[in-house]
Amino acid sequence: MKSFAILAVAFGLSLAGCAGTGGGTGGDEADYAGASGLPRATTIRVSTSGEPAKDLFGASRLPSAQAPESFGSYAKGCISGAAQLPETGPTWQAMRLSRNRNWGHPALVAFLERLSAKAAQQPGWAGIYVGDMSQPRGGPMSSGHASHQIGLDADIWMLPPKRLDLSAAEREEISSISMQRADGAYVNDQWTKAHMEVIKAAASDPAVARIFVFAGAKVQMCKDAGSDRAWLNKVRPWWGHHYHFHVRLACPAGDTACVDQAPPPAGDGCKDAEDWVAQILNPPPPDPNAKPAPAKPPLTLADLPAQCASVLDAQ
Ligand SMILES: [Zn+2]
Repeated sequence: MKSFAILAVAFGLSLAGCAGTGGGTGGDEADYAGASGLPRATTIRVSTSGEPAKDLFGASRLPSAQAPESFGSYAKGCISGAAQLPETGPTWQAMRLSRNRNWGHPALVAFLERLSAKAAQQPGWAGIYVGDMSQPRGGPMSSGHASHQIGLDADIWMLPPKRLDLSAAEREEISSISMQRADGAYVNDQWTKAHMEVIKAAASDPAVARIFVFAGAKVQMCKDAGSDRAWLNKVRPWWGHHYHFHVRLACPAGDTACVDQAPPPAGDGCKDAEDWVAQILNPPPPDPNAKPAPAKPPLTLADLPAQCASVLDAQ
């Protein structure tokens, strides 16, 4: 692209095997990369000027013409051959089109299409409004997320879609709605059983590794789930996440340089969520000796998997 020079092709495929376990439980046996007929992203070494990687990846308006493959981990990586979630489908709309973040692994696009069809069965839900996925080549973003870098994360709005014919301008203007009260300790009166059913459908999909939602919502779902509780394991409390929930897929089968997150601990995680709520309601006193965390320098291309230089450099 600009301001970095490719110095040498090195390592070949040898790095692919040591970057992580990969080959996870994508729940989808399709070999996306092999089936694409496109060249795979290769491993190249680069020297960079130290320019933030978010500037390089943010400048790419289209995906690389390479086989679809996720490289690295959710908060440090990139994706080749990303697919675009169509801006409008029978049961979804992508929101905030100006951000150009409706890109992801084909497995993520397929998942969103599946989930949207299930959401459309819920009363008051015409489908789903999809927020940020990834940039066309993934990588760090200039705003909004540390993760979403490898085309396997998607934000889904909590606002139940009444219409799926929003214009591009409307998709810039409409906002989602918050589901929380008391700083996320509880759900508010916007939360419905249908919200739980949509999140349950997402968590029950074998391609999904984790879902992030505010603690009060997790505790509410723990109360309402009844005896069918296995799906709660993937639903994890996190800060924010009251205007949208965040779905993270496992590394797709065959993406050997994609690094899965360790699975959540066994069990429904409800005690953990109750502890979060207790901390929200009764925050521990601030540590008088605490030092502010030093600001982290932005990621550069050299911090990312070596394939990411090829992803940036490709047509
Ligand atoms: Zn997110």
